[in-house]
Amino acid sequence: MLSQTEALVDLAAVRANTALMAGLTRAEVMAVVKADAYGHGIVPSARAALEGGATWVGVATLDEARAVRAGGVTAPVLAWLHTTGSDFAEAITAEVDLSVSSLAQLDEVTEAARGTGRAVRLHLKADTGLARAGARPEDWPRLLDAAAKAQADGHAEIIGVWSHLACADEPGADSNAVQLAAFLEALEAADAAGVHAPVRHLANTPGLLAAPETHFDLVRPGLGLFGLSPFPGDDHGLRPAMTLRAKVALVKRVPAGTSVSYGHTYTTTEDTTLALVPLGYGDGVSRAASGSGPVDINGRRFTVSGRICMDQFVVDVGDHPVAEGDIATLFGPDGPSADEWADVTGTINYEIVARVGPRVPRRYVGGEA
Ligand SMILES: *Cc1c(COP(=O)(O)O)cnc(C)c1O
Repeated sequence: MLSQTEALVDLAAVRANTALMAGLTRAEVMAVVKADAYGHGIVPSARAALEGGATWVGVATLDEARAVRAGGVTAPVLAWLHTTGSDFAEAITAEVDLSVSSLAQLDEVTEAARGTGRAVRLHLKADTGLARAGARPEDWPRLLDAAAKAQADGHAEIIGVWSHLACADEPGADSNAVQLAAFLEALEAADAAGVHAPVRHLANTPGLLAAPETHFDLVRPGLGLFGLSPFPGDDHGLRPAMTLRAKVALVKRVPAGTSVSYGHTYTTTEDTTLALVPLGYGDGVSRAASGSGPVDINGRRFTVSGRICMDQFVVDVGDHPVAEGDIATLFGPDGPSADEWADVTGTINYEIVARVGPRVPRRYVGGEA
């Protein structure tokens, strides 16, 4: 490694994970690369997933869609989280598919389409139970009618009808069956309104892995692309793509009874060696892992000693040989897992990778970035 810290991203793993998931379904695969591809880098990740068999790209925001297009991606791109006043004309001109959940959103994007002289490619979103985006069942028929009219007027092309699952990571949860039934009803209502969307989509990574009845025409994995599983303890053959690591910045011997880092929450019990790792909460390493985060140095497992600071933390490595410049691995396929970091910080593996900050340089192996 060249720099003092790095998030090493294995694009071959992204390709392989995409191919593995594509092999589990007859549906097409939309690679979800929002939030800088869960911290892995939006353009390299999108490209690797497309090489692995994805045919669509999904993002939250219009800025993300712009970044994907600027990276030379020509596959269909869907953006689903935007606010009034956004530059929809630019998105439509860049052939970005837009999701709408309300009449007001539909009006605004069709008005923008009218200005560009092109039809906006629409995905109508139904709220089937997540209560996040999407139109409620009572509002759905009016949205369908207005979208059908916009299509007839030449300002819109209805590509998709879609929704999102609340509890797909709990395959036994009742809400999964309830949401599937609600989605089927939303599709029937669309048919009845003369809206024949060719691309029906519902499944995220857990739906893709565990609920084939949610696959429809297109599946939308994010987490799985990056080799993390939504099911703790069952990796489904996925391979983590990111390794977060740093060079040890300083090593020193200290006596027993030395209190370490802010607040002195850790005190050495023997004469020992302390290693300083130059990553902290300013890099997205949660302070909640103070005293508990796992770290591998020279093939041996240690634990963060005392508080994690903004830029650095300390590891008591005992009498094990550790030198300045040795590599400390926080998580990755050859170290502790993102799941272990999630456990000790009370969160999910999604957040562990997504929160790795911009100060940490991304370095790519396994293909062209
Ligand atoms: C984030 C997201 C996904 C991907 O979810 P994973 O659980 O990471 O596979 C799919 N669809 C929507 C609407 C999302 O917001």
